Amino acid sequence: MPLRETEAIVLRTYRLAEADKIASLFTRQMGRLRAVATGARRTKSRYGAALEPLSHVRVFIFEREHRDLLRMNSAELIESFFDMQKDYRIQLAAQYVAEVAERMIPEREVNERLFRLFLAVLRSLKHSGEVNRPLLYFDYWLLRLAGFLPDFERCQNCGRALGDEGGYYGPGSEGLSCETCRTGVIGQAISSQVIAAMRAGCQRPLERWIGEEKAPPGCREARRFLEELIEAHAERKLVTRAMMEEAV
Ligand SMILES: [Zn+2]
Repeated sequence: MPLRETEAIVLRTYRLAEADKIASLFTRQMGRLRAVATGARRTKSRYGAALEPLSHVRVFIFEREHRDLLRMNSAELIESFFDMQKDYRIQLAAQYVAEVAERMIPEREVNERLFRLFLAVLRSLKHSGEVNRPLLYFDYWLLRLAGFLPDFERCQNCGRALGDEGGYYGPGSEGLSCETCRTGVIGQAISSQVIAAMRAGCQRPLERWIGEEKAPPGCREARRFLEELIEAHAERKLVTRAMMEEAV
């Protein structure tokens, strides 16, 4: 069995039998996958802190074709994102990012840009203590890289230019609707100013956007809209999104 080395972000782990764990990983060189870490639940495990949620690690994995579940040989920590999660808001934000990744990133599809996005978002959560812009940036680029970012200029239904009035969206929306096409379900409005501010910010490197500018008004609103799009494409409700509604 060939042994492959790759960088990875630990999305989450769960118990397997008495001493083992399954790690859900988004890897740089092999895409998203799940691997068994034998003995990871023992007190003196060779994995140490490397399998904490959201750790950036270097892992060695036995590659087996036709197998859903791979086997991890070892993992070493490159950068920890564990301490930042003492702040409950940051913890929820980190869990949201991991949940969205598990729902939206196809298995075994290598995506270098997405991997770099992940690291940038985790680092900004860690260093800025801000939640709205890192998550907005994550949602925006995740949708864009997946090819799901809608045309913000036109009504998704009739194609009419939305212009200064902005648009409307609701559960299940994959884009914006105009005043005429909005139905009883599509109830939330988003202004053209908020959309413009989001697009301008997300065109910059995240670190510089946060470091050099104050957050524009409406980041939370814009986030809600993008989260709705993500849920529509994930075809299910996100657990962490509901938790964030209350706390973040
Ligand atoms: Zn319309």
